[in-house]
Amino acid sequence: MTGQAFLLPEIAEILSAGGIEDAVPEARWILEDAADAEQARSIAKRRARHEPLQYLLGKWEFYGLTMYVGEGVLIPRADTETLVEAVLTRLPDRSGQMIADLCTGSGCIALALAAHMEHTRFAGLERSAAALQYAEKNLALHRFPNVTFSCADVLDEAAAGQYHGLAAIVCNPPYLTEAEMQNLQEEVRYEPESALFGEPDGLHFYREITRLWRETLKPGGLLAYEVGYTQAAAVGEILSQNSFEQIERIRDLNGIERVVLGYRNP
Ligand code: GLN
Repeated sequence: MTGQAFLLPEIAEILSAGGIEDAVPEARWILEDAADAEQARSIAKRRARHEPLQYLLGKWEFYGLTMYVGEGVLIPRADTETLVEAVLTRLPDRSGQMIADLCTGSGCIALALAAHMEHTRFAGLERSAAALQYAEKNLALHRFPNVTFSCADVLDEAAAGQYHGLAAIVCNPPYLTEAEMQNLQEEVRYEPESALFGEPDGLHFYREITRLWRETLKPGGLLAYEVGYTQAAAVGEILSQNSFEQIERIRDLNGIERVVLGYRNP
């Protein structure tokens, strides 16, 4: 909607009254997105009840790309750009090689990598049909010919059995602990539990994926995880127990160890 600056104070006020901190910038985004004043007010009222802004707008930016999002799929976070960056800076773009993105959700990681690695093929796997629909929609939007998405439970041995000789595996699994799930920020409660909860200690997916998918990597292949803010050491340990080498822990822009990666020993 253009030319509606006069609505800014009203929309910002609806947001502040609901306790939304960044009321003015959020009001601006809502006004830009809404078709008319009535729609802007209705979005603002839902936002004031802490529905995620990203779901209300229906899209969000990740690594410079627009991603469609909505209920049923994890919202792409800026933290996850650290994982994209880590892979881009460590792996040459080669034709014939394939990278798997496990628990792909909206597909944001595979798509962001594919945008910068046009000679590499990407396979995004996702168990949730609802999430997968967003990945497909995002692929249709960006039309990268080197990406495919498919429905698969990455904890199923048979799913891993379909792959071999991978150059890399990237994965932002569910990693929140039982205690963290009890204390979710209001907005995060709208997001699918299946994308957040990593079983009581938060490490279940790291243990299982590292074990089940190790052999799908070629010797020297890269395994790169996003991790929760207290998990870097534990995930590094899981990698070394599974004989991964040259393990690195990489900090995000907030200085939190956010990515843990290693290479399959030959
Ligand atoms: N980063 C998300 C959060 O803090 C968690 C996503 C995940 O479990 N991968 O809410």
